[in-house]
Amino acid sequence: MEISNKNTIDLKGKRVAVIGLARSGIAAAKLANDLGATVFVSDNSNSIDVKQALHNLQDYKIEGEINGHTKSIYNADLWIISPGVPKDAEIIQHAMIKDIPVVSEIEFASWFTTAPIIAVTGSNGKTTTVHMLNEMCQSDEIEPKLSGNVGNPFSDSVRHDLSNPYPNRVHILEISSFQMEFIQHFKPYISLYLNLSPDHLNRYEDMDDYISAKMNMWSNQTQEDFLVFNADDDVLAKRISPANAKKFPFTLQSDPKSIFKLNATKIYDQKHATLINLDDIALPGKHNLSNYLGAATAATLLGIASSKIADVMKSFCGVPHRLEHIEKINGVTYINDSKATNVDAVKVALDSFNTPILLILGGRDKGGDFLSLYPHTHNVKEVLTIGESEETIATVLGDAVRLRSCGSLKSAVEIAHSHAQPGDVVLLSPGCASFDQFDNFEHRGDIFRVLVQGLKECV
Ligand code: ADP
Repeated sequence: MEISNKNTIDLKGKRVAVIGLARSGIAAAKLANDLGATVFVSDNSNSIDVKQALHNLQDYKIEGEINGHTKSIYNADLWIISPGVPKDAEIIQHAMIKDIPVVSEIEFASWFTTAPIIAVTGSNGKTTTVHMLNEMCQSDEIEPKLSGNVGNPFSDSVRHDLSNPYPNRVHILEISSFQMEFIQHFKPYISLYLNLSPDHLNRYEDMDDYISAKMNMWSNQTQEDFLVFNADDDVLAKRISPANAKKFPFTLQSDPKSIFKLNATKIYDQKHATLINLDDIALPGKHNLSNYLGAATAATLLGIASSKIADVMKSFCGVPHRLEHIEKINGVTYINDSKATNVDAVKVALDSFNTPILLILGGRDKGGDFLSLYPHTHNVKEVLTIGESEETIATVLGDAVRLRSCGSLKSAVEIAHSHAQPGDVVLLSPGCASFDQFDNFEHRGDIFRVLVQGLKECV
C-alpha cells in the first residue's frame, strides 16, 4: 500500500494488520475498521486481557489471533505496531522484506486529523507536564484533548473526533520513545522535549539508539512549527540543534531566548512582567519548576494568556503516584512516588525534600546506575530495599548508605514506620520497574497507599 502522501491514504477495502492487542492496538483496530479497512489483529500473548480484547473486537466484526503470530499477519497492505513490539522483532523484518508498510499507532492516527498536535516527550515528567498543559489550554478558544502514553490512545481521540468534530481541537500527546519508532509523516505543531536520561536501556542497545527514537518527533517539523526544549540538558540541546522548527528554550538558569525567566523569588517574562512568585507554585521540587516552564512556554506559543498559565501553576496539585502526599502519621509524612521507575526520577525526588528521608527503593532493575544516587543521599537516613534488585542495590550502595533488605513493600512500610521519627519523610521512590511484585506502578502505589492507611488505623 502506498503511504508516501498522507493526504491520499484511503483505507477502504485495504487489509490492515494490527500487531499487539493492548490499549493502543485495540484503538487502532477500531479506527482502521471505521475507516473501511478489513482489520486482522494478532498478539503473541494469551493473557486474560488479550483474550477479552479479541472477544470484544468481534462486536466490530474484527477477526484475529492470540497466543502467537501465524502467517495470516503477512496477508496485509499495512501494519500498525503497538509500542510493546520491539523494533527488531523478526516479524517486523519479515514484513519489511514483503514490502508491507509498518507504522506506529501514533503515526497511523495522525493521518486522520488536521488538528494541531502538541507532542511532549522526555525521560521523566511527561505525564505531569501534559496534565499541566492540558489545564493551561482549557479556554474558550481551545478544546484540548489529552492522549497517547497517558492512558487514552490517540486513535480513540481521533476516532471520536471523526464522528463529533471539535473546531478548536488541539491534541496534547504524551509520547514515549517506543511510539516514535516507525514514524513517517507525524508532525507536531509544537514538540516539547523535557529531558533525556538513561531509561529503558534494557530495550535499547545504547543511549544513542534511545535518543534517536525520541528525535524522530521533530523530524517532519518545518519552520512553521515550534520546538520547545530544556536548555539545561546539554545532550538534548545538542541533539535538537539540526531541527527546522522554531526553537524555544526553557531553563532554570538564564537564556536570553527563553520566554520565561527565573530569579530567586519569581518567574517573569521578556517584558519583566511577573508571571508568578515562586512561593505560590503548587508542586514541590526544581524538576516540577522545569516542567512548569516547559508547559508555560508551549502554552504561550499557543496564545494562552499569562494569567491562565499562572492560575494553573498555583492550583495544579500533580498526578497520583508522582510525589503524591499520602498521609502524615505521628509527624511522619508518607510520599508515594511509585512512578519513579528510573534512577533519575529518584534523584529529583530526594532533592525535593529538606527533611530526613527513609527511602524505599527496588523492584525490577532496568539497568539503572544506583551508584549515581549517592550524591543525592545526604538527607537519606536509611534505604529500605525491596524486590528483585535488592542484591544489586546492596552491592552498589551498601557501603555508602545505611541499607536494609526488606523483601516486600509491606515489610518495608512496617520497618519504615518503626524507624521513622517525627519530621521524617517515608518516600516510596523505587527507581525500578514494578513487574517483579506488582501488575504495574499504579498497583504498587495503590498497595503502598493501603499499607500506609493501615498504619494510621493502628496508631
Ligand atoms: P513520565 O510520564 O515521563 O514517566 P511522570 O510525570 O509520570 O513522568 O513522573 C515520573 C517520575 O519522574 C516521578 O517520580 C516524578 O516525580 C519524576 N519527575 C517528574 N518530572 C521530572 C523531571 N522534569 N525530571 C526528573 N524527574 C521528574
